[in-house]
Amino acid sequence: MGNRRPLIAGNWKMYKTGSEAVETARQLVKLVEDVTNAEVMIAPPFTAISYVSDIVRNSRVSLGAQNLFWENEGAYTGEISSAMLVSAGCKYVIIGHSERRQYFGETDETVNKKIKAAIASKLIPILCVGESEKEREGKNTFSVLDKQVTNGLEGFLVNELETLVIAYEPIWAIGTGKTATSDQVQEVHLFLRSLAEKKNGNMLAKSIRILYGGSVKPDNVTELMGLPDVDGALVGGASLDAETFSKIVHY
Ligand code: PEP
Repeated sequence: MGNRRPLIAGNWKMYKTGSEAVETARQLVKLVEDVTNAEVMIAPPFTAISYVSDIVRNSRVSLGAQNLFWENEGAYTGEISSAMLVSAGCKYVIIGHSERRQYFGETDETVNKKIKAAIASKLIPILCVGESEKEREGKNTFSVLDKQVTNGLEGFLVNELETLVIAYEPIWAIGTGKTATSDQVQEVHLFLRSLAEKKNGNMLAKSIRILYGGSVKPDNVTELMGLPDVDGALVGGASLDAETFSKIVHY
């Protein structure tokens, strides 16, 4: 896996009030004190980010956001900018999660603008891509992923993508308890790395971290992390409980 540092990222989605988030973050910071094999990140809802930032400061846990808007500031009711996330202590931002594409009209074009904004603010973008069950059954997995990655990353210079993280999240595996098989995951991750190589050259392809997401649990994480092109996990449901997430982090 070269020198790509594994990343285990927790997406808390629309769960936890400020005080609940603080409690879970406090537990997690203690539970992962000893972890050196991977970087740990949690992405709480916006209302909890500043509170959690105080808890995770100087710990093994990094902070991320679940979304951003591409403008710096302005009359954009309900939106949050990359500068706001940076000032709240975020290092990462998840972009183009399938739930945002499905329920909030995100497209490859908006994803591209968001990645640009993230990179301009030195946030590390986690670009989420993945096919639906129908697309997989129709043997369109690779063309769907090619389009999401190509359009999502259009117009960047190679050095701008040095920190980029891609999360492969087959939609049919998110929150369903169904995990992709090791063969399916490795096949797609290798495809994504070759795609990065084709478009941006060998150096980027080697440094880019590709996470798997979709019903990752303590009992399947070890096998997934053993795959040559898996550099980490994006965890939804199983990241909400500090002990369960800590077991995943200690894969
Ligand atoms: C996710 O939302 O990114 C995710 C992978 O969810 P879950 O782990 O619950 O399937």
